[in-house]
Amino acid sequence: MSTIKCLFVVASIVTLAVALIFGNSFPNALSISSFENKSRLYYTSQSANKVVMINFDDGRKSQLIYAKPILDKYGFKASFFIICGRVGTERSSMNWQDIAELKRDGMGIESHSMTHINLNKLSTNALNFEIGGSKQCFAKHGYNTTIFGYPFNLGSNNPSVVKMVAQYYNIGRSGSDRLMFLNCKGYMKDTQADCRIYSANGKLTHANRYDIRTASFHHVNKKHNFTPAEMFHVFLQIVNGQTPYNSNGKINAIPIIVYHDITTSLQDYAKPSHAVSTTLDLFAQEMKYLHDNGFRVLLLDQLGYDPNNNVFYTPSPSAAALS
Ligand SMILES: [Zn+2]
Repeated sequence: MSTIKCLFVVASIVTLAVALIFGNSFPNALSISSFENKSRLYYTSQSANKVVMINFDDGRKSQLIYAKPILDKYGFKASFFIICGRVGTERSSMNWQDIAELKRDGMGIESHSMTHINLNKLSTNALNFEIGGSKQCFAKHGYNTTIFGYPFNLGSNNPSVVKMVAQYYNIGRSGSDRLMFLNCKGYMKDTQADCRIYSANGKLTHANRYDIRTASFHHVNKKHNFTPAEMFHVFLQIVNGQTPYNSNGKINAIPIIVYHDITTSLQDYAKPSHAVSTTLDLFAQEMKYLHDNGFRVLLLDQLGYDPNNNVFYTPSPSAAALS
């Protein structure tokens, strides 16, 4: 088999695997060769059209030890979603000094509940404890959290959960879509016209300010156990998926990537219990790619919302540089 043919087969297998693992939740998948060509084409002339947001969930110490130095190297800022009741409770969890260091260096500190529980199963009082209680818990330590990350990405389609989140936060963050469409129109699951929270029939919409859609990385499921190299291709697909939607500096779609544990052990990475882990080498490779290809990295709380038109917007490149 010629080298070109061989590369094509490898690209096709990875593309198929990506489609299988993400299914319809990540629409508009481009083939790898197609998006790599587009990536090259758009680079330099259109790098203003490439934006990404980086999130870390669960307050793992590994995020501070391994990921932060790489973020610092490139000047990237990320939003950290912390479980307030778990701060400093285990060696693998960040403590308040760690969180202070993140904040001092310009990272976003946001709420990921009190105990990381499925919110769909809770009474009103328990919901108040997890959602409002975590806001107060952070406030007690000097942090004004304005974004709530749903534990396990569950609860953003539950009216009583959303009502409680809306009482305390500006934004709720859930999953799982490869892109956040700022006008909330690009999703196959729903035919909404804008980002309003309820559709005409009173049902919660798929994407809205209390259901910001993110791409949460899982490399293991029942059928697959992707290597870091295969996950890098998934990453390329996700971060370049915005290319058809953004032009002339007007951002209509943003990939919001959610990381969890960062590990230096390939053996740990391959275990099903580490389905959401990322290796340090892979994380470094991904951040280098963002840097080398001119992506703007924004914090999630830099996302603006226009209540008159019910759409989100990003700060202009110059405003983002100043903030
Ligand atoms: Zn979590």
